[in-house]
Amino acid sequence: MKYNSLLLIFGISLFFVFEACSQTPKKMEKDKNPTKPSIVKTDEEWRKILSPEAYHVLREKGTERPYVNEYDDHFEAGMYVCAACQAPLFESKAKYNSGCGWPAFYDAIDKSKINEISDFSHGMRRVEVTCKACDGHLGHIFPDGPKPTGMRYCINSVSIKFIPQEKKN
Ligand SMILES: [Zn+2]
Repeated sequence: MKYNSLLLIFGISLFFVFEACSQTPKKMEKDKNPTKPSIVKTDEEWRKILSPEAYHVLREKGTERPYVNEYDDHFEAGMYVCAACQAPLFESKAKYNSGCGWPAFYDAIDKSKINEISDFSHGMRRVEVTCKACDGHLGHIFPDGPKPTGMRYCINSVSIKFIPQEKKN
C-alpha cells in the first residue's frame, strides 16, 4: 500500500516535470516572435552601412536634432523607406507639418511592417516605433495627430530615406 502511494506520487511528479519541460520552449518562442526582426546584423555590420548619426538613432535609439534635419520641412510626393533595410514605411500623402521639428505622419503604409513598443525611458511614458524587418528605431507615436487617425508618428529623418514618386513607377 505504501509502495503504491509512493509510486503514484513519483508518477505525478514525473508528469509535472515533463509538462514544465515541454511548455517552456514553446512559451519562449511565442514571446519572442512578435518583435523578431527578419534582418539581423552585428553592430559592426550596421556601423559599416550606416552613417554615425543614423547608427546612433537606428541602433542606439538616439534622437536627431529638431528643425535642422533633412525631412522636417520636406513635402515632395513619394514614399519613405527604412534607411537601414529599405522597407516601405510612410507615404508623403500622410505627412503633415506638425511643428514639432521632426517629420510627422498621421499613418504608416502598413502597420504590420512596424512595431509599437511601450517606452518608459527619460522619465516619460511614450510609444516607440521600430522597423519590424530590421528592429531599427524610427521615433515615437503620440495621440495628438490630425484626422483620420488622430496619431502623430514623429520620425527621425536619418531613420528614413525618401524615394520620389517618379522613381517608384
Ligand atoms: Zn528597417
